[in-house]
Amino acid sequence: MTNPKKNLLDYDRLQLEKLFTDFGEQRFRATQAMKWIYGDYQLDFQQFTNFSKTLRDKMAAHFNTAVPELVSEHQSTDGTIKWLLKMDSDNAIETVYIPEKNRGTLCVSSQVGCSLNCTFCATGAQGFNRHLTTAEIIAQVWVAAKQLNHSHKNRRITNVVMMGMGEPLANYERVLPALNIMRDDFGFGFANKRVTVSTSGLVPQIRQLNADADVSLAVSLHAPTDELREQLVPLNKKYNIASLLAACREFVADKKKARITFEYTVIGDVNDGAEQARALTRLLRDIPCKINLIPFNPFPGTRYKSPSAKKVDQFKEICMAAGYICTVRKTRGDDIAAACGQLAGEFMDRTRRSANITKKIPLEVR
Ligand code: SAH
Ligand code: SF4
Repeated sequence: MTNPKKNLLDYDRLQLEKLFTDFGEQRFRATQAMKWIYGDYQLDFQQFTNFSKTLRDKMAAHFNTAVPELVSEHQSTDGTIKWLLKMDSDNAIETVYIPEKNRGTLCVSSQVGCSLNCTFCATGAQGFNRHLTTAEIIAQVWVAAKQLNHSHKNRRITNVVMMGMGEPLANYERVLPALNIMRDDFGFGFANKRVTVSTSGLVPQIRQLNADADVSLAVSLHAPTDELREQLVPLNKKYNIASLLAACREFVADKKKARITFEYTVIGDVNDGAEQARALTRLLRDIPCKINLIPFNPFPGTRYKSPSAKKVDQFKEICMAAGYICTVRKTRGDDIAAACGQLAGEFMDRTRRSANITKKIPLEVR
């Protein structure tokens, strides 16, 4: 049976203020509650000491602050930490923390599985199971921040990337409040540019995001031509490269000093050639951007192979010679299967999983 109580973690500040005023309470209760939840990791209403006992009891009767249960924590030899969170009796997802010298990046999931079916992605191969709620999305940050605060004192989150399982812009209405909480001073207070949404190219939602939230955008391009991109990202049949880049140009035009990050999963003998690199540099010439190369991470059953280090270097050199900032993403957390595109999460009930794989849901287009 579903819980009729509203989960406060499902609401960003404005929505929470409305919830409290609709509830007959003062607006400032919203920021007070957020301070308890996100500042003090306090989920028990009875510990909200600046709320009267009557209000605490009233809240307990109508609201909850449920966060997914932490099932396990794995730490890689390179410092990467992966948490498995149980979303419900059928679904668990993984959240990954990647420490670097001057920052700590949390990779957050937006869906269990993904319906977009990119041919090189483990999440796509497993099909779509369901959207995560706002609470389930923001709770990944909450659990990770709390765990780091408790047991990895020298580590903290400085950046959040929506690059875990799922296509964040296909779950727009639940992702947006989570992005707001991440950047709210009463939430996690991350700087706008340190919160990144990664998309495989949902053009209308890129425009909507541009209107709604001042966050960074990463676009999974993977190919310089429509013909090749269609093989890798089926969504390209709906939104081709030209329409995608037009939305990208608008996105950066509206923001000072912003750059789009173009992600390019480099797949052995598929898109790793020098000519493809040159075509990419021509294609992106008029867009303020950087290029992030992700060497393909293989997974069981895939038809693709990793590129040679030589090809990745050559690709990078061509991009840099053309004046781009170009980085190669290091594979992190290899020993705990936490690398990009390898997050498979877990369907607790395998029977249900196979039933769901065949279920294709239409994209939410606002
Ligand atoms: N759905 C979003 C975000 C999640 S995937 C998107 O597609 O952008 C995050 C990044 O990992 C994307 O750039 C995706 O293309 C890449 N990726 C997926 N599978 C991969 C794999 N097997 N090896 C390397 N990168 C992969
Ligand atoms: Fe979905 Fe992104 Fe994987 Fe494509 S690469 S299937 S959009 S998660």
